[in-house]
Amino acid sequence: MCRHAAWLGAPRTLASLIHEPEYGLLTQSYAPRLQRYGTVNADGYGMGWYDPGQDEPVRYRRTVPVWGDANLPGLARVARSHCLLAAVRSATVGMPIEETATAPFADGRWLLSHNGRVDRDAVRDLADDLPGGAESPCDSAWLAAAVFARRRAGFPLGEALAEVVVHAGAKDPGARLNLLACDGASLAATAWGDTLFFHDSLHGSPSDDLREDSLHRGEDPGGGVLVASEPLDGRPGWRAVPERSLLLVSAGDVHLRPL
Ligand code: GLN
Repeated sequence: MCRHAAWLGAPRTLASLIHEPEYGLLTQSYAPRLQRYGTVNADGYGMGWYDPGQDEPVRYRRTVPVWGDANLPGLARVARSHCLLAAVRSATVGMPIEETATAPFADGRWLLSHNGRVDRDAVRDLADDLPGGAESPCDSAWLAAAVFARRRAGFPLGEALAEVVVHAGAKDPGARLNLLACDGASLAATAWGDTLFFHDSLHGSPSDDLREDSLHRGEDPGGGVLVASEPLDGRPGWRAVPERSLLLVSAGDVHLRPL
């Protein structure tokens, strides 16, 4: 099972998801605390972020373990945005290890990561152009293609995720379908078979901000919402997302609903 994390709020760097927090994705790649399937996430990693000068998000994906890319710390320290998404991968047995099978998947302004596994036959009907429209034969790439087909049909982010997860989950009762997606203005995530947490420092008290030193390391301590497979640090305020629910985050609003 992979681990993923995202941020929406005041601009901050990718390092704030990966290297700076005590249990950031770097630590979660070799010592996840709550992972239910698999022990390490060493089959690649990826990250995506939004630059004000670009219509589409910037993406960087590798098949090496996140700890094995000597160029990453320098890049993650300067790549910054109000909206970030990153993931470390533990490939499901039988799935290819290649950049195109590594999250985040992208279409237009949408970025998507999948934490779990699904029978591809349960996804086939959810997009007209499968398998050709998927970036890779990986089950996660098929799910991404199904979500992106809904983007092109005009679905909002959360509705696209909800429909794909509910339909794929009905066809494959053993599926694990934790999806995390963003479009630069909102985040959406599903809890379906694995852990999911969020931390809201936008609506937190000022004293919460004072405790964020280890996370921000001199960054603008502006607030926002973190969403992650498991808490990135030991601060109070992390909340578990209940199984089979959809988390939606947009400017100033955090919303949870059952799936
Ligand atoms: N099934 C996906 C893959 O093989 C995701 C795996 C995971 O969550 N560990 O990449």
